[in-house]
Amino acid sequence: MYDLIIIGAGPAGTSAAITSAVAGARVLLLERGILPRHKVCGEFVSPESLGLLLSLLPAVSTKLLHEAPHISAARLFVDDRVLNSAINPPAASIARFDLDATLWKAAQNLGVETRPQTTVQSISNNGPFQIAGTFQARAIIDASGRWSNLNASPNGKQRSNWLGLKAHFAESSPPPSVDLYFFDGGYCGVQPVALTSENHSDKTSRDRINVCAMVRADVASTLPEVLSRHASLSRRSKEWRSLTTPITTSPLIFRHPQPLRGNILLAGDAAGFIDPFVGDGISLALRSGTLAAQSLFPFLKEKLELEKTAASYRTQYETQLLPVFKSSSKVRRLFTLPRIMRVPLMLLFQNGPALTQYLVRKTR
Ligand SMILES: Cc1cc2nc3c(=O)[nH]c(=O)nc-3n(C[C@H](O)[C@H](O)[C@H](O)COP(=O)(O)OP(=O)(O)OC[C@H]3O[C@@H](n4cnc5c(N)ncnc54)[C@H](O)[C@@H]3O)c2cc1C
Repeated sequence: MYDLIIIGAGPAGTSAAITSAVAGARVLLLERGILPRHKVCGEFVSPESLGLLLSLLPAVSTKLLHEAPHISAARLFVDDRVLNSAINPPAASIARFDLDATLWKAAQNLGVETRPQTTVQSISNNGPFQIAGTFQARAIIDASGRWSNLNASPNGKQRSNWLGLKAHFAESSPPPSVDLYFFDGGYCGVQPVALTSENHSDKTSRDRINVCAMVRADVASTLPEVLSRHASLSRRSKEWRSLTTPITTSPLIFRHPQPLRGNILLAGDAAGFIDPFVGDGISLALRSGTLAAQSLFPFLKEKLELEKTAASYRTQYETQLLPVFKSSSKVRRLFTLPRIMRVPLMLLFQNGPALTQYLVRKTR
């Protein structure tokens, strides 16, 4: 009988595992895939995420954070206009290939038992829990991501035609900014990124960029199609050299966050998926993973029943994390307006830099 089983080794699952292991819990972390692996993500690591990562990772692993390219500006390319804004304190750009594997290793070093290539098909009972007749635990955190077999809509009614695409390319001397190109039916982000795990020469890693898009399936389904949707992006991409095979993910579904399923605590995207455009997904995953683990402490110390512990997590999730989801959907609507309404709005932003600064603060 484990104290805690965590399903999924993204930032939510590993942050929960690290937090619980530090507090002395006996933890099992189950992951469907194998780490390291590439993942569809803009790889924009917000200043807030950097602070959280510094507190979760041992000093030896923070090299990854210190050596990552700093992103000190945002450039929003909307139609033929460019809105510029500083990002202060700067964010970082860290390949998920490195980030997720570093967190996984940190959990292992703290005594978390890890099982890669283990897909959880179902969970029995409502505490103590049973998984596949093999593993038993007093508590469970489901951190299996946005659309796993465990949290997909049971009636299949939630449809979405949005998909995510990503690949790394080589570009000579990319600027230290996150560049977001907007077009009808989607947007594409470009930023420099380093990859430390693979044996690249210095030059290649300095010249590596991550290109990641969220797009409606009827607008584009491949990266070349995405790149052709915006004139400046299309020109810029002509000199790129492909470094990784493009990967895709779908569906991208935005639903009201749900931090609980019975007495199972949900963390990260499994609880709620925020528009990637705001660059807060990793930070929300780290925050909710940590919060879920901390909420379980009184239960694991036999001071509170599981049901009350779960209810307390829900309350804290709703007060601390729900507001972030609300502001992001407002900002997203600004950019998905039809062109005829977008143009005067962009003029307004262009003539009022303080407005742009506000927008970027709200999104990045
Ligand atoms: C197009 C796009 C761009 C994005 N850009 C950014 C960005 O720039 N910055 C940012 O902060 N966020 C970004 N995000 C969001 C960010 O990627 C997510 O919010 C973040 O990965 C959530 O972490 P998580 O741990 O909840 O889930 P995940 O990272 O998805 O991890 C879930 C893990 O669970 C495993 N799993 C699933 N089902 C099972 C099962 N049944 N059994 C065992 N294991 C299972 C999966 O293999 C996976 O490893 C982006 C998202 C998309 C789609």
